[in-house]
Amino acid sequence: MTYQTDLKLFIDGAWQSGEGRDCMAVTNPATGETLAELPLASKADLDAALLAAERAFPVWRGTDVEKRGAILRKAGSYLKANAKEIGALLTQEQGKPLKEAIGEVYGAASMFDWYAEEAKRDYGRTLVRPVGQRSIVQRQPVGVVATFTPWNFPIYLLAKKVAAALAAGCSVISKPPEETPGSTNAVAKALAEAGLPQGVFQLVHGDPDMVSRHLMGSPIVRKVSFTGSVGVGKHLMGLAADGLKRLTLELGGHAPVLVFDDVDLDATLDKLVPQKFRNAGQVCVSPTRFYVQEGIYDDFIAGFAERTGKVQVGNGMDDATQMGPLAHERRLPAVGDLVADAKAKGARVMAGGEPMGNANFFQPTLLADVPLEAKIMNDEPFGPVAVARPFKDLDEALHQANRLPYGLAAFAFTNDLTRANILGDMIEAGMVGINSFAISSADAPFGGVKDSGFGSEGGKEGLETYQVVKAIHMG
Ligand code: NAD
Repeated sequence: MTYQTDLKLFIDGAWQSGEGRDCMAVTNPATGETLAELPLASKADLDAALLAAERAFPVWRGTDVEKRGAILRKAGSYLKANAKEIGALLTQEQGKPLKEAIGEVYGAASMFDWYAEEAKRDYGRTLVRPVGQRSIVQRQPVGVVATFTPWNFPIYLLAKKVAAALAAGCSVISKPPEETPGSTNAVAKALAEAGLPQGVFQLVHGDPDMVSRHLMGSPIVRKVSFTGSVGVGKHLMGLAADGLKRLTLELGGHAPVLVFDDVDLDATLDKLVPQKFRNAGQVCVSPTRFYVQEGIYDDFIAGFAERTGKVQVGNGMDDATQMGPLAHERRLPAVGDLVADAKAKGARVMAGGEPMGNANFFQPTLLADVPLEAKIMNDEPFGPVAVARPFKDLDEALHQANRLPYGLAAFAFTNDLTRANILGDMIEAGMVGINSFAISSADAPFGGVKDSGFGSEGGKEGLETYQVVKAIHMG
């Protein structure tokens, strides 16, 4: 299937083409070919988006919640009906296998479906007062929202923010990732076709620094939600401080996986290895630091290495492909340098370890006995690299899991119920998966602690993040 998209901005209910605007090339990371030219928003475009969102906010906020829900549900249906085509766009821009891309589009649709219903259950509460008096607490939409989302799950992460913000009654300006913009246009199309009033949602592609500074410099924007690296998150927090804007930050992670010696090793490895290499490891909750109880460590790394060597790497459009390329050029040296540093410090390369081919491919990699001082034990690799070390007991495993400033996701594999409960209680992370990697769904809060950011997406917490609380007292 050839890539077909005419990339545009969507502002105040109208599509704006590249004419008269600066453009940048969008490339296929599996082949290096140029797929399209992306029009970049100018400051005038951003001002138009701000005014449109400001105008549309009272209209949308005043729209009956049933009607808001019906529009969101229709948008979800559009995404599901077009999942194959949107998935193909996503694979060609981002690299992930087509099956994963189509699954991502369904995940995006699930956000619209779930928030269409959740908006109706936003009840507030009544406080106990003497007869004839009332005090009520209600949540109201925060106002105009700006979202900034990355290239690893371009449509899912956009939908997660936009569905919740729209359900809450906010109007939205979204800047999707400039590297992988095509599939995100489908969200604007879905909402437009579903009957979203003009100006409630705008999509502005562009230079990330210019766009975020301009939008966050405006008093019109009341809330910002960002997913990306810790460094950019800290920078945006500074910009948010200047305008006292509410902020949700979903930043990086370095997920530990604690594997205890009471598990069925083969069955556990069959789960772990495909998860590690999903989306070429470019996942903020990717399992990365494998701490394995010492009695099963040697068998674990042998079994992990064998399975890693069999992962089919290739163009995501090929049926046989299990892992695609890294999403853009700058990830190759970033991952390669971390692997080289670990090798130099004494890590054993059990599988992979090298770039492959002409484009952005990197071998699925397992490093064993990685010293704690290696950079990769401390910095998020965001690539297809697993690192492994042995541990003695629960205390040591917990200490290692909590050692880093990150606290997004953590995983543990054990059949001991007491131990599982202790791990759930004591690991410092926003999400803990015990014998499971299913930690992201529309109905569950998702977000980090420590340097992994703050605020939740998904679940009722994800709705609340786009609301302000008001108490009304009647004497
Ligand atoms: P990056 O932080 O430079 O870019 C990530 C995304 O943030 C991009 O899509 C970009 O458009 C956006 N961005 C960058 N600067 C911005 C700004 N000033 N204002 C608004 N948006 C901005 O990171 P990268 O080089 O693309 O990837 C490197 C690291 O980013 C990874 O190692 C990983 O730690 C992190 N990352 C995390 C996630 C996640 O899901 N949490 C996703 C992508 C990248």
